[in-house]
Order: sequence, then C-alpha cells, then structure tokens
Amino acid sequence: MTKGVLIKKTLFDTIISELSCLDYEKGGILGQKVRGQIDEFFLDALPKSASISSYTPDIDVLEKTINSVWKHRGITFCGFVHSHINTSYASQADIDFIRRFCKVNCLDEFMLGIVNSKSGTFHLYSISNQLVKELSVLSE
Ligand SMILES: [Zn+2]
Repeated sequence: MTKGVLIKKTLFDTIISELSCLDYEKGGILGQKVRGQIDEFFLDALPKSASISSYTPDIDVLEKTINSVWKHRGITFCGFVHSHINTSYASQADIDFIRRFCKVNCLDEFMLGIVNSKSGTFHLYSISNQLVKELSVLSE
C-alpha cells in the first residue's frame, strides 16, 4: 500500500457509527476539498433499496447534495461508501457498480469505502477498469 488517504478522526468515527448496522447495509457518499483527503460524508438516509446483502444508492438524491450543497462549499464528490454486515471487502457487484459509474461519468477511477458493521473497520479502494487498489486510511 503506497497511497494513503487522510481522514480526520471525528469524520472517520462518524462514518463508522452512521453506517454500522447489523440488520441491513447502509451507505453514503464521500467528498474532498483536497486530493488525498476525505473531508465530507453524507448519509444516504433513504436508499433505493437495502437488505442484509445489498445496498443501492438513490443517485438522484445524492446528486442534489453533490451539485448544490457540496459544490457551493468547494467539496468534490470522490467516492461511494457502504457497509457490509460481516465482510470488509468490496464484492464483485460493488466493483462492477463503480466501473459502470466511471464509464457513465467518463472517470478513470473512483473510490469505494466498505465499513464492516460487525468489526467496525473501514477499507478504502480505488477502482479503475483494470485495477482494484486498496488505499491505506490515515485517520488523525
Ligand atoms: Zn457491497
């Protein structure tokens, strides 16, 4: 792991606590002011669907946050994040979702965070068409 992403400890703790749920997967989006950092988290409170093994974001609602609130505050949308009940790793469906999102939005790569609800751990990936890279997370 060569690249690290910086997250303030308070934000890191918020992401873990808001997404941790043992009944169904929860999700949201990540924003940054500076490359190499995560500065914002927005909880997708009413996702399109969520179950014990899947989470489908409501893109329309999230886009409103990205294009109005965040844009005015100089925050760039940089990643999706969701919880898994019992695993820490991105599933093939998660990877495929990010790849489709990149294709539609003409992006080379995008970040995906996975919170393990049971262990309270956070894994962050950078996903491109060719690669799935795990990024180290530095919370301070
Ligand atoms: Zn997933």
